[in-house]
Amino acid sequence: MAATAAESLARDLRRLVGDDGVLTGGQLTPYLVDATEPRGVRGRADALALPRNAEEVAAVVAYCYREQVAIVPRGGGTGFAGGAVADGGVLLALERLDRVLEMEPLRWRMRVEAGVTTRRVQQLARESGLRFPPDPGAPEQSQIGGNVATNAGGPHAFKYGVTGAFVMGLEAVVPPGEPLRLGGSTRKDVAGYDLLHLLVGSEGTLGVVTETTLRLIPAAEAAYPVLALLPDAEAAGLALEAALASGTVPAAVEYFDDLSWEIARRGFPAELPGGYVLICEADGSAAEAASGRDLLREALDEHALQLYAPTERAEIAALWRWREGVSFLVDAYRGGKLSEDIAVPLERLFDAVARTREIAARHGVECCSFGHGGDGNLHSCLLFDRGDEEARLRAEAAAQDLLGMAVELGGTISGEHGLGTLKNGWLRHQWSPAAVRLHEAVKRTFDPEGLMNPGKKLA
Ligand SMILES: Cc1cc2nc3c(=O)[nH]c(=O)nc-3n(C[C@H](O)[C@H](O)[C@H](O)COP(=O)(O)OP(=O)(O)OC[C@H]3O[C@@H](n4cnc5c(N)ncnc54)[C@H](O)[C@@H]3O)c2cc1C
Repeated sequence: MAATAAESLARDLRRLVGDDGVLTGGQLTPYLVDATEPRGVRGRADALALPRNAEEVAAVVAYCYREQVAIVPRGGGTGFAGGAVADGGVLLALERLDRVLEMEPLRWRMRVEAGVTTRRVQQLARESGLRFPPDPGAPEQSQIGGNVATNAGGPHAFKYGVTGAFVMGLEAVVPPGEPLRLGGSTRKDVAGYDLLHLLVGSEGTLGVVTETTLRLIPAAEAAYPVLALLPDAEAAGLALEAALASGTVPAAVEYFDDLSWEIARRGFPAELPGGYVLICEADGSAAEAASGRDLLREALDEHALQLYAPTERAEIAALWRWREGVSFLVDAYRGGKLSEDIAVPLERLFDAVARTREIAARHGVECCSFGHGGDGNLHSCLLFDRGDEEARLRAEAAAQDLLGMAVELGGTISGEHGLGTLKNGWLRHQWSPAAVRLHEAVKRTFDPEGLMNPGKKLA
């Protein structure tokens, strides 16, 4: 956009959201990247708007629609798909929509604006003896609106489900600037199509989420993790099956291949040797959690070299704090990391781990994988020295092969992070032509001018 056009855009936006609600030029820098920055993904924007409420969001969307300017919704910028990275147009940041509108502990629900962080939602629930189970790994920065827009998961999605399972209601602004209320406080609603869950996971391509009503559950009285150290991938696969057949429903089933464990165990709160690792957790009332833990121990012990099953609250908290930091430890290993999130049928998980290695070796890059084993969801990491452009390109080529492998194994190219810009062109490899046509028709219906987060998800 020419300088004069950009100035007049900023001037118009200031009229809608106030002088302090518009950033331009160098002020945009921190907003031009997300967690894909190590992959070299960096965007550009003509301005950033910081609305304070849904009305201002609607005014910005209406203005952009009238003026044919692209709108890129932005939450906490922790996305791993480049979804919040703009290629021109207006970045619409939700961080000032950070009010908790209603907390109803006795009815197990809360209503919050889109910019409230994931951590705050979790804490508010906990303070009332309740729980918001989705636990994606960057909760201090990620926002509930971003979690809804990516349908985020995390370790405890195995038992409890991903974000969409906890969204009862949404308020959004859809083109050409109309507020839309979907669902609300009812626990059931089968009138009409499920538009609410069409917006969930839509990565900002259909509208801007401004508010959500979340379903909460009573917090478990106790939760006990059991870590199994395993000699190889085969034993890890058998242990995973044994955990599922143990007689308890694990709240989480996380896996680490030998290299990811080698990298991450340095920060682990107990001294343990190398190998493959499975971390399962039993939760419920104190008695249920304890008996679940015993069942898991018994099931895993058959295949494990060693078990680690902390029972002290502080030790358990340290274990999950460490788990939240694993991604950062892997980042630090070589300085450069390309993190994929394919998911495959459970029985193909360790096939996928092995094939990830073959692919990485073929492209001459190092790799490790860890993730949400119970969901068949691999965080396959292709590792390279930061600044080594040639190695990064080889890692990018390997990532393309990983996506092909996921489809071949009957899985998905994205179990958690969404498609953003990074998986452009891949939707049609996973979905049939009829399904892709329907996707395109849905997009046209919501956004006939193609201005909502263009170039993402469907491109
Ligand atoms: C260390 C680390 C660990 C992670 N672990 C997990 C994990 O375990 N599970 C998991 O699922 N993800 C994980 N993630 C990815 C990321 O945290 C999630 O995708 C998260 O939901 C993104 O939220 P955000 O607010 O940062 O969104 P952003 O990155 O700002 O945006 C993501 C997408 O959502 C859209 N968007 C954001 N807000 C809105 C809104 N209000 N309305 C409409 N569209 C919007 C954007 O346009 C973009 O397409 C991890 C990321 C990091 C850095």
